[in-house]
Amino acid sequence: MHHFKMKNGTLFAEDVNVKELARQYGTPLYVYSTATLTRHFQAFDSAFNAVEHLTCYSVKANSNLAVLRLLAGLGAGMDIVSGGELYRALLAGVPAERIVYSGVGKKPAEIAQALSAGILMFNVESVQELVRINEVAQQLGKTARVSFRINPDVDPKTHPYISTGMKKNKFGLSIDSALDAYAMARDLPGIDPVGMDCHIGSQLTTIEPFLEALDKLLAFYEKLKAMNLNIRYLDLGGGLGIPYDEEEPPHPKEFGAALTKAIDGLPLKIVLEPGRVIVGNAGILVTEVLYTKQTATKTFVIVDAAMNDLIRPSLYGSFHRIEEVTPQGRAALDVDVVGPICESGDFLAKDRQLPEVRQGELLAVYSAGAYGFTMSSNYNTRTRAAEILVDGDKAIVARRRETYESLVANEI
Ligand SMILES: *Cc1c(COP(=O)(O)O)cnc(C)c1O
Repeated sequence: MHHFKMKNGTLFAEDVNVKELARQYGTPLYVYSTATLTRHFQAFDSAFNAVEHLTCYSVKANSNLAVLRLLAGLGAGMDIVSGGELYRALLAGVPAERIVYSGVGKKPAEIAQALSAGILMFNVESVQELVRINEVAQQLGKTARVSFRINPDVDPKTHPYISTGMKKNKFGLSIDSALDAYAMARDLPGIDPVGMDCHIGSQLTTIEPFLEALDKLLAFYEKLKAMNLNIRYLDLGGGLGIPYDEEEPPHPKEFGAALTKAIDGLPLKIVLEPGRVIVGNAGILVTEVLYTKQTATKTFVIVDAAMNDLIRPSLYGSFHRIEEVTPQGRAALDVDVVGPICESGDFLAKDRQLPEVRQGELLAVYSAGAYGFTMSSNYNTRTRAAEILVDGDKAIVARRRETYESLVANEI
């Protein structure tokens, strides 16, 4: 469910004409919908109302300050994976006690930054990291609340690059080694082990792997209780998928009902780290057709958005729905939609049935709100796109388009 709809033959983001936005701000252009963001956050968060919980939006999915500020205003906490994301979250007004810090490679300065801010907890991914957090905490005269990220070894049945909870992945600690890690944590003066954490992958389209992981964590929880550890938090990570094409992921309500049923009655506060499911379908990427060209074997639609703007098709072979902003009703052709970058891997769609489009016309790439702009780069010295946040009939520039000057500003 989102608020990008056709009205009088042209695409609107809520009550704003997308073609007008493109004319005013240029292309490629990211456009986000406030109503969709709000709806998605509230649907997800309220799905867990039966239990004490904190929804920590995963900043890496879309870290624009306007998006963070909107979600913070709805009561969201944040899941961060770097000092930079901590900086953004605090700048957006997220209270530190609603921030959890994940990731396998936290640097000492980042740990110190998070301790000074007073975040809720670190999701610790190795024993060496635990030792380091203890050292930094002691230097600062603080105690670090930690959860260990448990790698439950379940197959999330998603793309290998976004599977994170299998034995072969770099993330977390195995259940076997976690027990020793908790024993160690209990005895370190700078550490307070307060929780358990897992995040098994992204774009999951069934609930079973989540339940399988939860089962393993709850069995493990019994062992921790037997060790006299006072565990108060259970962080179940993110990963709920969205429909890009024909996928039919569970509705957040269904997801929440299944998980809360399994944890109901336990004296644990549930932490959730949704990213994609909040922002994915709340954003589109608008691009202009520069040229079309026919070769012996293919028809190419060359657009002004490229893999530097949206890398998901190139990186994961991901599908993004692409449609005309103002449909012309021409017959469909089998085309590749490609960008201007000097790589054959630079495409937004391959072998796609798309109505014939012409120079100067606009296309909307759907489901681009998550891992779109945040994964963008300046490859080929391309300025990154502007980001627009629409709210009803208003549109604000949430991020200006980069300029050539801003591209070279840090170079000497
Ligand atoms: C990326 C990530 C998330 C968010 O994943 P989504 O699939 O976008 O919901 C949550 N937690 C951690 C630790 C992550 O790395």
